[in-house]
Amino acid sequence: MKIPLLDLKAQLDTIRDEIKTAVDDVLESTRYIMGPKVTELEEKVADYCGANFAVGVSSGTDALLISLMALDVKPGDLILTTPYSFFATAGVVSRLNAVPVFVDIDPDTYNIDPEKLRKWFQENPDKTGKVKAIIPVHLYGQCADMDPILELADQYGTPVVEDAAQAIGSRYPSKDGVKLAGSMGTMGCFSFFPSKNLGGIGDGGMVTTNDGQVAEKLIKLRNHGSHPKYYHAMIGGNFRLDPIQAAVLLVKLKHLDTWHAGRQKNAEFYDEHFTVATLKKPVIAYRRDYHIYNQYILSVPEKRDELRKHLVANDVGHEVYYPVPFHLQECFRYLGYKKGDFPNSEYAAEHIIALPIYPELTDEMKKYVVEKIEEFYV
Ligand SMILES: *Cc1c(COP(=O)(O)O)cnc(C)c1O
Repeated sequence: MKIPLLDLKAQLDTIRDEIKTAVDDVLESTRYIMGPKVTELEEKVADYCGANFAVGVSSGTDALLISLMALDVKPGDLILTTPYSFFATAGVVSRLNAVPVFVDIDPDTYNIDPEKLRKWFQENPDKTGKVKAIIPVHLYGQCADMDPILELADQYGTPVVEDAAQAIGSRYPSKDGVKLAGSMGTMGCFSFFPSKNLGGIGDGGMVTTNDGQVAEKLIKLRNHGSHPKYYHAMIGGNFRLDPIQAAVLLVKLKHLDTWHAGRQKNAEFYDEHFTVATLKKPVIAYRRDYHIYNQYILSVPEKRDELRKHLVANDVGHEVYYPVPFHLQECFRYLGYKKGDFPNSEYAAEHIIALPIYPELTDEMKKYVVEKIEEFYV
């Protein structure tokens, strides 16, 4: 058996005709920039995420970048975030010449640890005035613990930008009721990279917000800061979402809840079938159906890299998201961190492995994945 980490063909097989029609409609419309498909997707994603507004952008990375631009992040400003995420989370901070400040993760959820965040504020009273934003990441599809993060943000007057790139539709039981990823902070950033639960046929992204003024600013910034056309009160860029992506995403959005349920079912299967006690399964922080399982992550106590060789030899797709935490990346050496600064992130980088979790997996395939991993450890 050969099991890829992700099989987009298996998904395409179920919706090929719809997708082809959607693409063809955009082609024939000759409306290739912005237009009704982008507007429709924005309305539907805002609705889906429980946010008042959504602004389509060119990628998840640009969603983060434009969010920080909307907050007028300036050189030297501090942005608090996790050291353990996809590169873009911290990369956008440095691109604006602001300074990423890392706070370690919770070892169970892999999300930023609110207690450590609180400690940072307490221990750095001279710096709190320079903090321009907090970026929690809802890693792997499970929300960060937002209530205490929002409480700190409120206390220190700091906006929160949710990196919800892996978490569209993920839910959080806040003290004010159940909330959706991207609806809790000042802005929420989404990615439609093909491997996300809602993925396009190329790059795409979205920023959600409940604040009408922020939405207006984002709309200007994504089109060179222009409003009206050719009059520029601010400097933006070309961060537009392509209508061809919007048309494809509109088709896929209709299937998203079914796909989430398929991933949750697969995760449940793995949780039940992995029996080797030392394998650490994903910790469900809230409820299984609040987690959208963009990734299913195992933490293995030892020999992770030998396990990978064993899986390669047996055609089991897998990946390490992510092998190097930000504070140990070469490009961030100038920030002055060292090994040992964020032990939970370093431990995760050395011990985790992502397994196939896409909705179209069969029971046979899942069984094979479990078997190949367990036989390595017993
Ligand atoms: C995918 C991802 C991004 C970047 O999205 P792109 O669309 O690839 O630019 C940012 N943050 C996280 C956590 C991601 O997983």
